[in-house]
Order: sequence, then structure tokens, then C-alpha cells
Amino acid sequence: MKLALHWQIAIGMLVGAIIGVSLNLLAGTRETVVATQQLPGGVSALTISDSPNHIRLAWTRDDGTTDAAVVDGTRQTPGAAATVDELARVNPEAADWLHRLGRSPARIVGEAAQKVGNLFLRLLQMVAVPLIITSLICGVTGLGDAASLGGMFLRTVLYYASTSAIAIAVGLLAVNIFRPGITGSVSPAANGPAASGHSLGDLLFEQVERMIPTNPIAAVAESNFLSIIAFTLAFSIFAVIVGGKTLAAIRSAAEAGFDVMMAMTMAIIALAPLGVLCLMLFVTATQGPAVFSSLFWYLLTVVAALMVHALIVLPLILRFVAGRDPFAYARSMSPALLTAFSSASSNGTLPLTMACVENRAGIDNKVSSFVLPLGATINMDGTALYEAVAVLFIGQLYHGAVLPLDQQLIVAFTALLASVGAAGIPHAGLVMMVVILQAVGLPVEMQGIILAVDRVLDMCRTSVNVWSDSCGCAVVASLEQRAGVIADAQAS
Ligand code: ASP
Repeated sequence: MKLALHWQIAIGMLVGAIIGVSLNLLAGTRETVVATQQLPGGVSALTISDSPNHIRLAWTRDDGTTDAAVVDGTRQTPGAAATVDELARVNPEAADWLHRLGRSPARIVGEAAQKVGNLFLRLLQMVAVPLIITSLICGVTGLGDAASLGGMFLRTVLYYASTSAIAIAVGLLAVNIFRPGITGSVSPAANGPAASGHSLGDLLFEQVERMIPTNPIAAVAESNFLSIIAFTLAFSIFAVIVGGKTLAAIRSAAEAGFDVMMAMTMAIIALAPLGVLCLMLFVTATQGPAVFSSLFWYLLTVVAALMVHALIVLPLILRFVAGRDPFAYARSMSPALLTAFSSASSNGTLPLTMACVENRAGIDNKVSSFVLPLGATINMDGTALYEAVAVLFIGQLYHGAVLPLDQQLIVAFTALLASVGAAGIPHAGLVMMVVILQAVGLPVEMQGIILAVDRVLDMCRTSVNVWSDSCGCAVVASLEQRAGVIADAQAS
């Protein structure tokens, strides 16, 4: 009997964490007085002290001058433990010496595991661009006849955009209240992110500029996600406008490509248990058990924010815009919501979502066949919220401080676009997070920290994604009806 993937991932995570924490506790410290024959050129004495929270190298040059390089993680968060990366920023030469001559056994094993774990991340990054392109083309070209769908398109997009924006706002609020990445008494200014020096207007304008690639092929080559999403959206919309044989050809090509990319992605996701094990091992071996306390608050923050959105915001919209009883509607949708939770895939759940919306909630097929497939691809409130919280959490860990408001707004804006670009498959949100990390200059490798709990959060956010799509159907159906009534009234 083969264990379900999410159990495999959970076990991988646990095994990695147990090995990592044990290494960290038992072999996390090493004091080295470098032997004369190993000393780097021009250096007459070198001592290295490596521990999870503190790295110190002190040396004497041949001319008698002394110097030292220190990275102290203890005054920061556990997640911001003393890292070789930090040392390399402070003093690249010292980082090289540490690497060659004085790393603790925990760091040696942890960094080897990180290399393997990074291969897994690279595989995910490898499929990201073609997956996004084919998935978006499929979603948008599914619209059919452009003219007749124009009105519904606008209403639908308005719903998608506004609920995702609200979800992100809820996420931002939660992450700023809970501050899961900041523990202890870190002063916000201690290691705060440097002010960008640009006004918010400049920064947002830069993002808008990036959405208009001067060369779409170059954007693909550079994995510039914002440019890719914007161009693909425009391309798909114009394919629908051109219509006819062209649209059919593009649609079937995109569907074929999507099927293959999806198969590749699923194969890569099968490696997730090993990837998670390695990345967990790296994080815990080099940063110690304390990292879990940060993760606990992180989990709590994401789940609380998702619940506010799913149990308060969306039901209010359902009640006051669509005029539906949220409880009854949720009951109708429950098979789809539970499937979304266990499969962590909006796309996988789609047939069931359509069946529930049409057969159990009684919504017109004209609306659901348009709103749901597009929604499965581009309307992801849960993912948008999650992306914002996760990136700000990483930002808090990395800088030991809350990101400044202008950067938070960039995170919000890019999280919206990233959720649009994410495919409705397990862990897609994780792949898309690179866009946001890129936008605010955070290291992609820090995803390793949250990878361990991604599956459980993926299940939660996918349910919210499907719930929002379903509510969207009710809202658009009611708006369509009202528009129809007004048209009728005017005609008579
Ligand atoms: N798994 C999510 C979905 O299918 C996407 C994500 O990873 O956030 O909706």
C-alpha cells in the first residue's frame, strides 16, 4: 500500500526535522584553531568558532595586523540565525575560510542537504514558466465568444479582483498584528530593511513597466513572471477576439501543452517528500529547534486570516450582493470544499465544483461554465492571502523587522498578480512566490523554511480558493440576472 502524498510529505518533514534538530543540538558547534599548513596565504594565525547563532573568525596577517568577522544571530529571530550567507555579505573571504576550514558537522550536513533540496526547488522553478503560460491561455480562451461574454467578463473580473484584494488586506493585517517572523525583543530598527529610496509611486510604476515587456521572449528567458503573466493574458484575450480557427488552434495547443506540463509538475511534486526532508534538515540543522516556534505563529497567522476571509468576508458578500444564505450555500458546496481540502487542487476539484454549483445550488450553467474554469485558474483568494503572509513572514525573519509600508504594498500588488498566475494544482502558490520574493529582494532559498508546512496550508488555501470561486458564481449570476431585468424593463 502506498501512502498518500501529503502523508509522505509530512513524514519527510518530520524525519528531516528530527535529524536536523539532533545534529544541531549534538554537533552544531565547532571551535577550530587552523593548523599552520592549512592557513590561507598571507595569514599567520586563524581561529574559527562556529555555532548556530554565532559565527566568529579572528585572524592575524603576516604583517602583524589582526582582524575579525562576526555574525551574531542571537539578537535576531531564531530564523535569522547566523548564516554563511550573512557572513559572505560581511566578509566573503572569511566565509570562504569558514566553508573550507571550520564549519560545524551540523552545518556541513545541513548545507549538503540544502544542495539536494535546492535541486527540488529548481525543478519547480523549471516548470513554472510553461505551466503558467499554458494554464492562463487555457483559462482565458475558455471564455468563448468575446462580444457576448464581455459584460460577464467584466463583472467576473471585478469580483475576482475585489475579493482577492480584500483577502490580501486581511492577510497583511494579520501578519502585521501577529508578526510571526519576529520573536523576542528585536528592535524594529536593529536590522531593518534598507529604505528603498524610491517613492511608492516610482516602485508601483516600475511594476507596471515590468508588465509591459519590450521583448516577451526575453521575459520568458529571464523568468520575469510579471511580464509573462501580463503578456500571456493579453495574448489570450486577443486570441479570443480573433476567434475562429485561430482561437481553436491556440486553445488546443495550449491544452496539449498544459496537459504535459501538469504531468511533469505532478511528477516533480512526487519528489516533494525528499525535497522537504532535505530542506527541513538544512533549516533545522543550521538554525536549531527554535525555528518551530516561528513556524507555529506563521501557521496560526495564515489559518486565522484564511478563516476571517472564508467565514466572514465571503459570506457577507454572498448575503448582501448575491442575496443568498451563506450556510445553505456552504452546505451545497461542501463536497467540492472537502475535495479541495484533501486534494489541494482547484483544477482537480473543478468538475465537482461545477456539479455542486449547478445541481445543488441551482446556478445557471451559462454562468458557472464561465466563472468556474476561469476562477480555478485566476481567482485564488486563499493563495493571494497566503502569498502575502508568507512573503512578509520571510521578510520579518530575514530582516528581523517588519517590512516598510511601501514594500508591503509591492508585496500586496505582486501577490495579487501571483495568485492570478498560479495554476490550480498542489503547491502552485509556492512556485509563484518567487515573483514576490524577487520583487522585494528577498532570497528565494528562504522558501525552504516554509516549505515544511506548505502542504497543510495548501489544503486550507485551496478550499478558500474554491469557496471564493463558488461564491463568485452566485454573485455573478445575481448581477447577470439584475442586468437582464433592467434590460427587460428598459425594453418594455
Ligand atoms: N493548490 C492551490 C489551488 O489549487 C494553488 C496554490 O498552491 O496556492 O488552488
